[in-house]
Amino acid sequence: MKQDVHKTDILIIGCGIAGASTALEAAQSGLKVIIITKNDRLEESNTFYAQGGIVSLGPGDHPELLKEDIFQTGDGINNPEAVDILSKEGKKMVDSILIDELEIPFTRSSPETLDYAQEGGHSRRRILHIRDTTGKTIEEKFIAALKKYSNVTLLTDHTAVDLLTVPHHSKNPTSFYKESRCIGCYVLDNKSKKVKMIFAPYTVLATGGCGAVYLYTSNPKGAIGDGYAMAYQAGARIVNMEYIQFHPTSLFHRDADGFLISETVRGEGARLKTKDGQVFMEKYSDLKDLAPRDEVTRAIYEEMTNTSSNYVYLDLASYTNIEIKKRFPHIFKTCLRYGIDMTKESIPVVPAAHYCCGGVLVDDWGRSSLQGLYAVGEVSCTGVHGANRLASTSLLEGLVWGTRAAKHIASHYNPTLEYNVSEIHQWYYPEIEEETDPALINQDWISIRSTMWNYAGIIRTTKRLERARADLDYLRHRIEKFYREARMDRNVVGLKHGIQVALLITYAAIGNPVSRGSHYLKD
Ligand SMILES: Cc1cc2nc3c(=O)[nH]c(=O)nc-3n(C[C@H](O)[C@H](O)[C@H](O)COP(=O)(O)OP(=O)(O)OC[C@H]3O[C@@H](n4cnc5c(N)ncnc54)[C@H](O)[C@@H]3O)c2cc1C
Repeated sequence: MKQDVHKTDILIIGCGIAGASTALEAAQSGLKVIIITKNDRLEESNTFYAQGGIVSLGPGDHPELLKEDIFQTGDGINNPEAVDILSKEGKKMVDSILIDELEIPFTRSSPETLDYAQEGGHSRRRILHIRDTTGKTIEEKFIAALKKYSNVTLLTDHTAVDLLTVPHHSKNPTSFYKESRCIGCYVLDNKSKKVKMIFAPYTVLATGGCGAVYLYTSNPKGAIGDGYAMAYQAGARIVNMEYIQFHPTSLFHRDADGFLISETVRGEGARLKTKDGQVFMEKYSDLKDLAPRDEVTRAIYEEMTNTSSNYVYLDLASYTNIEIKKRFPHIFKTCLRYGIDMTKESIPVVPAAHYCCGGVLVDDWGRSSLQGLYAVGEVSCTGVHGANRLASTSLLEGLVWGTRAAKHIASHYNPTLEYNVSEIHQWYYPEIEEETDPALINQDWISIRSTMWNYAGIIRTTKRLERARADLDYLRHRIEKFYREARMDRNVVGLKHGIQVALLITYAAIGNPVSRGSHYLKD
């Protein structure tokens, strides 16, 4: 079968804040850009669901103060160079790109003054926000801006399957004598189910995080970490995957899809209770329900495990005099939609996988260890977050490194491709007529997600991790075989990537015997 072949100057995989920032900067420098997303809606991404806001610098604030807070949360293993870049360049990019260029209407405390919110771990009020739907507006403004450029092609419903690399995909045996290089990607058109080859001298991974390899997550279902899996497969260095940050309280409801209940609800006096109504936080911390995020998450998990329960309760109604509807309008409305009136009753909550601090190791300009491949945003590891992420720094990291990566590519652009397209292997389709049985895929996902939740999640032990490794290794073996024999579709690709990501996290956790930040070992 003749393959659909495309060529571009820069291929960007993912259209959240990181991919969109890269695309905007590249478009402005005149490069020809293809940006793909596996979703049918351009805006569907973790970025779209970000609630709290984006870090800037408030009045009386200083980059050095922000740096201190990032180091404190990161538990001492942050990359000082990267933290320096974020702290010094972040506010400038927020001002020039988000406020001046995209005209994002951040919430103001008065017509002249921006409203800087406070969040846990920050020593100053410095978070810009658009009420509690910051990510949605940012994402929509970026997409509207990108649509104005004729040198940008936006492709929805296109799933990146495998990075194209030489020598790996080359038919020419002498290519092995050259350094490995990424030259684009095999991309599945979700609708036609055909694989295209998109060639580019520069490929940027902006595929976001992997919370959805866990049973409970605040991330949308698609956040399964495709980028980590593809980069690993292509031979790029991946680091710090054991540092998965969990949020203590997401709504427990079969249809709520990990809706976050902000930590400010506990700040207003709410208390955590077991299913039979007992408060428990005093057993774990003198600060009780106001203990730091990690401690609260672990306490909830312990209580759930000890009582064989899937959730605990968060009770605000019994402990506050504030006007709940006015203080938490979005949370109130969302809970009510699921039949829970938080002004009268407790909210069932469960911790949720929230953010991956590790990823594809990159330098100050987003370059990975593989020539031609950049990574930006949550899929990358710049070292900014160390072992744990300071709240609201991830949108900023995507903006800063997305823009920097595009600047670097534009200023070093070399159109000479060191390969011949006809020497690259076309995609191989097994001759299969039958549609894939979705029950097989669903069951494998249930296995991956519950294994990760129970054995490689909030509280880890050597025995649990060993069990995870054994179960996941076996599953990988079966999924690889299934993948080779299955008819190509996005769910089959997702499963193959998902098992790889689960293994990356598990092996990293096994390899690190030190509890630090978001990696917690009980033994
Ligand atoms: C509920 C929630 C609240 C949050 N609140 C905040 C906050 O207030 N402040 C903050 O700083 N951070 C917050 N975060 C974290 C933050 O939203 C993310 O870290 C950030 O948006 C990641 O941006 P990104 O561009 O790297 O990835 P994403 O925004 O996740 O975008 C990934 C893109 O890659 C695409 N993609 C993935 N795989 C493929 C593939 N195989 N082929 C093609 N396309 C692919 C997706 O379709 C998507 O377009 C929150 C996260 C969640 C889930």
